[in-house]
Amino acid sequence: MTDAPLIRYQKPAAAAHRPTEAQLRQEIVEVGRYLWQKGLVAALDGNVSARLDRDRVLCSPSGISKGLMTPNDLVVVNAAGEPVGPPARGGRRPSSEVLMHLEAYRLRPDVMAVVHAHPPTAVALSIAGISLAQCLLPEVVLGFGLIPTTAYATPASAEGAAVIRDLVTRYDALILQRHGSLTVGATVLEAYLKLEKLEQVAQITRTLVTVGGGLPLPPEELTKLLAWRESQGLMKPGMADDFCRACGACRTAGEPRGAKR
Ligand SMILES: [Zn+2]
Repeated sequence: MTDAPLIRYQKPAAAAHRPTEAQLRQEIVEVGRYLWQKGLVAALDGNVSARLDRDRVLCSPSGISKGLMTPNDLVVVNAAGEPVGPPARGGRRPSSEVLMHLEAYRLRPDVMAVVHAHPPTAVALSIAGISLAQCLLPEVVLGFGLIPTTAYATPASAEGAAVIRDLVTRYDALILQRHGSLTVGATVLEAYLKLEKLEQVAQITRTLVTVGGGLPLPPEELTKLLAWRESQGLMKPGMADDFCRACGACRTAGEPRGAKR
C-alpha cells in the first residue's frame, strides 16, 4: 500500500465517449485558432491531429495558418501518413510533421490527440541549453512529471519521429530541441492545454534566469509529489531514474511495483 500524501490534485479523467469525426474536425479548428491567438505558432507553423480509429488519424494540412483552418481543410491519413478517405478542400496535403504524430499514436494507445507548436520561449531556452526538466513547480511535477527535451531533428523529416520515440512513451509534453513542442492527450483540448502550460513554465524559467536563478523544490516536498504520482499509477518505467538525474530525487522516487531496473 503506497503511503500517499493528502493531495487533491485530479489527474484528467478519461473521456466518457468518443467524439464524432465532425466534432473532432471542429475541435482541431478551434485549437488551431487558440495556437495562433496565443502566439504559440506563427505563419504556417504547427500541426494538430486526432485519432479517428485504429488505422486513421485526422490532421491539419500543410501550407495554411492554423488560425484560419476550416473543418473541410483537414486531412484523413492512414498509419503510413498517406491521405485516405474524402479529399480535403482544395486538395490540401497532410501536415509535414504527420510522421511524428503517427509515432506518438503508435507508441501510446492512450493518446487520442497530438499538438505540435513553436512556443517561442520554450524554443529559445532549448537553444540556450536551459532545460525545463527541473523540479521547480509543484503542479508541473504532479501533472507532467518532467518536461524533457529531445535531441535535435531536421524539421519535417523522419528524424522527428525518431527523436521523440524514447521520451513520448513516458511523458506527455516534450520540447523539440531548437524547433518546438509536442504535447499529447486524451482530447485535442487536453493536448493543447498541456502546451499552454509548457510555455508558461518556459516563461517562468526565463524569468528565473533573469533574476539570477531559483531554488528547487525541497526534497521532502518532492517526495510527497512523487508519492502522489505513484499512487495514481503515473510513475512509468524509467521516470524514477529521470527524477534522480534531473532533481536529485534518487531515494524517494519509487519505481512502479514490479518494474525492473
Ligand atoms: Zn514545427
